[in-house]
This record gives sequence, C-alpha cells and structure tokens, in this order.
Amino acid sequence: MLLLMSSEKVSCLIIGSGPAGYTAAIYASRAGLSPVLYTGGQPGGQLTITTEVENYPGYPEGVQGPQMMIDFENQARRFGADIRYGLATKVDFSDPTLHKVWIDDNTLIESPSVIIATGASAKWLGLESEQRLNGYGVSACAVCDGFFFRNQVVAIVGGGDTACEEASYLSKLCKKVYMIVRREELRASQVMQNRVKSTPNIEILWNSETEEILGEQGVTGAKLKNVKTGESYSIDVTGFFVAIGHQPNTEIFKDFINMDNAGYIQTIKGSTKTNVEGVFACGDAQDNIYRQAITAAGSGCMAALDAERYLTEKGLH
Ligand code: NDP
Repeated sequence: MLLLMSSEKVSCLIIGSGPAGYTAAIYASRAGLSPVLYTGGQPGGQLTITTEVENYPGYPEGVQGPQMMIDFENQARRFGADIRYGLATKVDFSDPTLHKVWIDDNTLIESPSVIIATGASAKWLGLESEQRLNGYGVSACAVCDGFFFRNQVVAIVGGGDTACEEASYLSKLCKKVYMIVRREELRASQVMQNRVKSTPNIEILWNSETEEILGEQGVTGAKLKNVKTGESYSIDVTGFFVAIGHQPNTEIFKDFINMDNAGYIQTIKGSTKTNVEGVFACGDAQDNIYRQAITAAGSGCMAALDAERYLTEKGLH
C-alpha cells in the first residue's frame, strides 16, 4: 500500500541526474520552465564511478568524472533548477494532459511534461556465487573498489571498452589481472585493445566463461570453462570484477512507454518524443549505440527543447 505523504504540481519534471538530466535542467531552467529534477539512487549517474574523462570537449586537460557531474549540477542550479534527492518508483502516464510520477513511493509529482533521463546500470552474470559474494570481493566497479585489492591477483570479466579500461586501471594497483573473455576477440576499440595487450601484468583468458566464483566469506578464486575445449579450470583471485555492459533503467515505464527488447526507450526519429505525448527520453535510457557523456548531454538539450515546444503548443508556457 502506498502511503502518500505529499503531492505537488510542476510544469517540467526531469528524472535522472547524469549528463542528460542535468543538461535538460540547464536548458529547461533557462527557458523559464522551472524544472524539478530528481537525482535517482546514484546522483550524478555513471560518471561518478569513473576516473578521468578525456574526451569531453571543453576540458582540454581532462576532468575527473565526479567533478564533471558537480560542474553540471552547479550549472543547472545557477539557472534555478530545483534539484532534489529521490528515486522515481512508479509512474502513471494514462492521462496525456497530466503525468503522474511517484518519488520514493510516497511523494506524487504531477506534470504535463516529463523528461526521462534515468540512464543505465551495470549488468551481472547471474550466478548465485556472484550475488552471494557481491561486496565481499565481487564488484561491478573497478574504480570504486580496486583500491581494496592492492598488490593482489584479481579477475575481470568482459571484452568491451569498459572491461579494458578497468583492467588497465586495476593493472596499476594489482599484482596481476586476468581478463576473462568469452570469445576469441575483444569488442573494445583498437586503442584499448592495444593498451591491454601490451600491459605485462594483464593476462587474457580467451574463450572462457565463468562457472562459479569461489569462496565463502570472501573471493578465493573462480572456476572457468574453456568453451572451445569444454575443459574446466580454476584461477586463484581475491577480487572478481564484472564489466559486461549495462541495462537501461527503464523498468518503471514499461507499461506506458514503447521500448526495444533490451528495454531501451524508443523515441520518434529526429526527436526525443516517446509514444506518450509530453513524455520525452534522453541519454542512455534511449541510446544503446553511442552511450557517451557528450551524446547524452546533447540529447538532454534536445529533450528540454522538445518539452518547451510541447508546453508552448499546449498553451502551458
Ligand atoms: P559492451 O557491450 O561494449 O561490451 C560488453 C562486453 O562484455 C563484451 O565483450 C561482451 O562479449 C561481454 N559480455 C556480455 N555479456 C557477457 C556475459 N554474460 N558473460 C561474459 N561476457 C559478457 O559494454 P561496455 O560497457 O564495455 O561499453 C559500452 C559502450 O560504452 C560501448 O559503446 C563502449 O565503446 C563505450 N565505452 C567507451 C569508453 C571510452 O571511450 N573511453 C569507455 C567505456 C565504454 P561479446 O563481445 O562476446 O558480446
């Protein structure tokens, strides 16, 4: 049962606080929409668990991910965006004129325009041992937890840019890093592949899948299987990192918003409009191709402009 503690009507509600959400907030505030932004469970989003960002234009020397998100937030606040902590837990988009969003199950926000910028979260392998040892040696964020494994031997699963970047990060802290790759090639960009392959203390275990992460109180190793030969083998590690991609944080919208099979929101080509009037989507929640801070920020700008035009057309702005 929902225990409603408060309700409020706003003209533009933004859900999410990564580059997409904050950029939408900057544009919506400057357009006079008085946006209210709820940060979600991880204020600042995925960039807060990154180290150096080198490819965001405007930072010629690079910037730390968490600092970049503080900069975004401060810029949005400067124009009057109302930024609040809270997680959107339920929505009702059945009335096209006034959308309902519940925050933390107890606050109802009603708004004619909603910008979804909820991003994506790390995927897991789905093993029982992975769940049981999560936080006890199993992690999906090398940058957050690598420090605990200084001078130890660790493993990381995945062959994409994230896995390569994190393996490279871990190689500087740890004695040795095993990369567990399920195929015979990496998915990562050439520059990242070269970096990993030329790092002496990174060993790539090709064609390998994880059967079990070993350990009772903490990780002691992993049981792997070579998918080509069918042979099982074990490695001794004290840390086990998972970097196999992300899934969009769109579950709460699924009864109302059109999505693809993976849960990415479908927007109308050339816009951020969804199938529901007045609801717009931007950032990684609707992008499974580019997934960059700069593209998320660009689509956040588009969403705010689309929301402003929508409210103007409806005579609400
Ligand atoms: P990706 O989807 O690119 O890669 C996921 C990797 O995990 C693949 O190697 C995949 O294998 C593997 N994988 C997936 N599921 C499993 C599983 N169940 N078991 C074992 N392995 C699995 O995700 P990333 O997070 O690496 O990157 C996402 C996007 O972000 C990409 O576009 C990437 O380029 C970008 N990015 C860019 C960076 C940069 O420019 N500095 C840094 C980090 C990310 P398979 O290849 O066999 O499918």
